[in-house]
Amino acid sequence: MPVSLNYFLLDRGDALSRELAANFHRLAEEKGLRRSENAPEVVVSIGGDGTMLHAFHQFQDQLDRIAFVGIHTGHLGFYADWKPNELEDLVTLMADGGGLSNRVVKYPLLRVQITSDKGSESFLALNEFTLKGADATLVAQLNINDKPFEMFRGDGICISTPSGSTAYNKSLNGALLHPSLEAIQIAEIASINNRVYRTIGSSLVLPKHHHCDIIPRKTQKLLITVDHLAIPYSSITSVRTTVADQKVTFARYRPFPFWSRVKDAFVGDI
Ligand code: NAP
Ligand code: MN
Repeated sequence: MPVSLNYFLLDRGDALSRELAANFHRLAEEKGLRRSENAPEVVVSIGGDGTMLHAFHQFQDQLDRIAFVGIHTGHLGFYADWKPNELEDLVTLMADGGGLSNRVVKYPLLRVQITSDKGSESFLALNEFTLKGADATLVAQLNINDKPFEMFRGDGICISTPSGSTAYNKSLNGALLHPSLEAIQIAEIASINNRVYRTIGSSLVLPKHHHCDIIPRKTQKLLITVDHLAIPYSSITSVRTTVADQKVTFARYRPFPFWSRVKDAFVGDI
């Protein structure tokens, strides 16, 4: 007995993505899927990984009941891993019932809590959080599990999820982490190292239940980013980062191993 699924679709807004979105809606209607703005079970993103970041943040309050799926209209994506010519297969699989429960993967997320003169704010990141000096070198103490670890001076600090390890973190020479690992990775952005200033230099991978606090030197103008979002702060007291309690769910209607995506995206044919 087919189960009718509620879905929401977000596209990047370019001509190809919009055309595919129209095709998706037509096929979905033929197969009895229902559109839902407020309570979808599946969120379909058509565009790039950046489009998936938007979709994630739009529905981040409903992560416990939503599965995301991405179709790429540019190069192969990490979150957008369905090809445009597989659209019909995807709709068919979505419509064939049987529920989603055995066709999903769950990836860890990063929790960021910022205490500033604005009070305390909490963010969830799918890729990463960065902290940078807005107009001068960032100077900040890093504590790991409440113990002082180092005094950082440099452009900034990037803390990423395993699925975000292939994004900004990779440009910083961080390791690529398989998303089955519940961890966060701390990577340096251009740290100053000489006889006076010293940082560890390597990326650090922290397991669940560990936390890293960043305590910037007072009254620095700072810029934080959470995935594609950038927010300026005039003064931050502290930032706490941990593996989040929540995870994000992706619908896996067919297997596409993480290491195959890494190879296809960065190595190509051998
Ligand atoms: P963008 O400038 O279009 O993104 C930069 C590139 O990162 C795009 O090619 C994007 O893919 C790709 N990307 C996003 N998430 C990825 C992932 N998990 N694994 C591998 N590649 C990924 O901006 P955006 O689309 O809004 O994405 C924001 C992200 O850009 C941030 O979360 C950060 O990771 C990344 N970023 C990277 C650098 C850097 O490497 N130096 C600097 C700033 C930001 P699509 O083209 O498919 O969207
Ligand atoms: Mn993009």
